[in-house]
Amino acid sequence: MLLTVTTTHRPATDLGYLLHKHPERVQEFKQSFGTATVFYPEASDERCTAALMLDVDPVRLARSRGRNAPDFSLAQYVNDRSYAASSLLGVAMADVFSTARSGRCGSRQELADSAIPLEIVVPVLPCRGGPAIAHRLFEPLGWTVEADPIPLDDAFADWGDSRYVRLRLTGVLRLADALNQLHVLLPALDESKHYWQGPDEVDKLMRSGEGWLATHPDAHLVTRRYLGRRGGLTCVALARLAEVGDEVEEAVESAEDEEVLQPAETRVPLNTQRHEAVHQVLLELGARSVIDLGCGPGQFLDRLVRTSAFTRVAGSDVSTRSLQDAARRLHLDRMSERQAERVQLFHGALTYEDERYAGYDAAVLMEVIEHVDPPRLEALERVVFGAAAPGAVIVTTPNSEYNVLYEGLVGMRHPDHRFEWTRDQFAEWSERVAAAHGYAVERRGIGDRDDAHGTPTQMAIFTRKEGTDD
Ligand code: SAH
Repeated sequence: MLLTVTTTHRPATDLGYLLHKHPERVQEFKQSFGTATVFYPEASDERCTAALMLDVDPVRLARSRGRNAPDFSLAQYVNDRSYAASSLLGVAMADVFSTARSGRCGSRQELADSAIPLEIVVPVLPCRGGPAIAHRLFEPLGWTVEADPIPLDDAFADWGDSRYVRLRLTGVLRLADALNQLHVLLPALDESKHYWQGPDEVDKLMRSGEGWLATHPDAHLVTRRYLGRRGGLTCVALARLAEVGDEVEEAVESAEDEEVLQPAETRVPLNTQRHEAVHQVLLELGARSVIDLGCGPGQFLDRLVRTSAFTRVAGSDVSTRSLQDAARRLHLDRMSERQAERVQLFHGALTYEDERYAGYDAAVLMEVIEHVDPPRLEALERVVFGAAAPGAVIVTTPNSEYNVLYEGLVGMRHPDHRFEWTRDQFAEWSERVAAAHGYAVERRGIGDRDDAHGTPTQMAIFTRKEGTDD
């Protein structure tokens, strides 16, 4: 099985630096199930292609699988694994290109950080759900997708198509992002689950999915398929994704026989409900200028920018990576001059005073405070409520009481959370902050309400009292 990565970024041979594999060498990497070889079929200044070829040894594969492999015995030896790009290719790719996936590149860091023209070809890809699903999973990430079904037999057209496609992706992306997306999406497209996964599989998914999976419209589907039938793991993964993107419930029930081509979720993901709720409050408040503090990859900003009622929109974050994603999402480089004047994106930490935070009708702190160490939270309060002092501040944060309803969730919803509060704790905090800085405060819930545990997200709406200077 084969996968090729081509760039036309000049000098194209820099691809060798990005992949940490020299274009003039053929290199082999032993895998538990066979051998991965990396070589360059073409390497010129204009165009350079790296190929990853995987030779699967069916006998070793069968041995590396463990006893609980569901296959009947012969299928362990006679299968498509040697010929079709599959989850195995994802696994080999993750290993062979691990440094490239991390986005690190000593001598060419700037290039590693840049989006470059890429073409990825996978000649034979098992694609459960057919070409439509390949389009559906890759297109939201900015790829142009060609997925041509491969006929069962060229000589017998009426036998129809096989379940394999030839996949060609073209786009302008960071190479690390492209590799991470393939690492997750190749196994997700593959029909056979990779059942050798361990408990660290969720961590792997989180690492490879960073910056794109949580906001992918099919994040549920991808997560379920990537983690196979391990419903418990899927739950944990979705709970962690919930922090930047998605929702947990009903992850398991449909894991068994998902109908991939049915319309996506009929339920509205929590992330969307959160965006709608905060958006609605901003409109209710009549805010004209809005700043999204800790805007992350810019999903909510995008909604703000598309609302003409907001004449000025800004976003800031401490993570430059997130800001790059936000800039890309908003097409900041292609904005008209007028739009560009309306929208601002900047780097900053919320625990340090910065005059760029000031002068807005409303500020949003959506799922941000729980990322701040409790001893530093007071600094954030002073910066936002004291110094910037917008007309209104909208804060959302998880309601920890609700966590018991996330089956399989141990600890907090996201490894980076420094705390998660009960409704009482949030009430106490918001009352104290409001009193200290001259705001009135009202609290609402966001998401499906449980009688005993409340809603998954809690929101506080602070409005500045007339005539207060502090
Ligand atoms: N508001 C976004 C992102 C939430 S994730 C959303 O709702 O989708 C939390 C974000 O807060 C991350 O992007 C993180 O980089 C940012 N953040 C955490 N601590 C911060 C700090 N001290 N200053 C600025 N941003 C911070």
